[in-house]
Amino acid sequence: MAKSFQGFRSLIENSPDAVSLIDKRGEILYGSASTSKVFGYHPEEILGRNCLELIHPEDRDRSSQALQDVLAKPPGPRQWDARVRCKDGRYSWVESTLSNLLFEYEVQAIVMRQRDINARKAAEEERQRQAEQLLHSKLRMEEFAYTAAHDLREPLRAISMCTAMLVQRTEMDEKGKQMAKFIVDGAARMSILIDDLLFFASTGTHEALQCVDLRHAVEQATLNLAPAIEESGGVVTVDPLPIARGNEIHLVRLFQNLIGNAVKYRGEEPLEIRVTARPHGPGWVVRIEDNGIGIAAEHQTRVFMPFVRLFDRNVPGTGLGLAVCKNIVEGMGGTMWVESEPGAGSAFCFTIVAAEGLPQPPAYKLSHL
Ligand code: ADP
Repeated sequence: MAKSFQGFRSLIENSPDAVSLIDKRGEILYGSASTSKVFGYHPEEILGRNCLELIHPEDRDRSSQALQDVLAKPPGPRQWDARVRCKDGRYSWVESTLSNLLFEYEVQAIVMRQRDINARKAAEEERQRQAEQLLHSKLRMEEFAYTAAHDLREPLRAISMCTAMLVQRTEMDEKGKQMAKFIVDGAARMSILIDDLLFFASTGTHEALQCVDLRHAVEQATLNLAPAIEESGGVVTVDPLPIARGNEIHLVRLFQNLIGNAVKYRGEEPLEIRVTARPHGPGWVVRIEDNGIGIAAEHQTRVFMPFVRLFDRNVPGTGLGLAVCKNIVEGMGGTMWVESEPGAGSAFCFTIVAAEGLPQPPAYKLSHL
């Protein structure tokens, strides 16, 4: 037992944490007064007992390892969470911190400080439960969206086909033909909306991420948009882009939506689109910049909401493109925002986690690191 720890004792006696002194086998040599508050034991009741005895069987190996670690050379303070049996038989979650003071003349023991963390554990469990519940309802929503989309497509196809046949087989005046065209166009728009809704419902789940070459994803997106880009006369410049952690199909869709929007919402100037990336925390900020009509400050948060459209209804779109982008980015653990000024263009930015251990484009290293 420690030879003299009177000074030390006065320091710990009033601590709200239970403080014990143990030897290198874990035997309890001293327990502070608050042991009774935290565990219900009078300090004397635990003297001579091994602290590992009181630990929940599932947490015992971890606790024994912590004791070994604190005895190792060089010793360092060691902290871990474990359940400890209280006097009334129930287990209580505590955060334990061990400090090796065996060679301190005043103490000559290992100091174990134990703090009640039941409230924190309950909050963690509640968060976990809510996350599981959310995932469960998201999966159910996805299933529902697939079924609904499938069931809606069939009658839509029938409406389009029958209207086209009606126009062919019956005598119709110009007004009638125009109305028939409205029906067919409406059915086509609804079909696009169903596809977008379906994609929206399938994004955002934290799925397995792979290493994706962002440059490749941008190339794929511009290839898909080639006719529209060509028709606009726009120029897309792509700076060196990193390899990041994401979902390739979703990333192609993300770039496609953003570059496609830059084309749709272009201004009077010849269209210029630039895709860049710069290091940011454990990853990158990717930026898709255009010189289009821009977005007023008061709309810059709203545009990411489903079905929000700001301009001319004649520009094709469902108002789901940016909502899909935001869902995709958040599903990969990132955030998304827009920097814009009306008339001066927009820059849509998102963060993405780096693919660790993979070589990044050398040009990037030269200019940014
Ligand atoms: P959609 O293009 O189908 O309308 P989005 O969700 O992609 O839907 O975009 C929402 C709205 O945000 C658009 O209707 C448009 O008003 C605005 N917007 C999106 N991208 C740009 C852009 N690059 N420049 C200006 N406005 C944009």
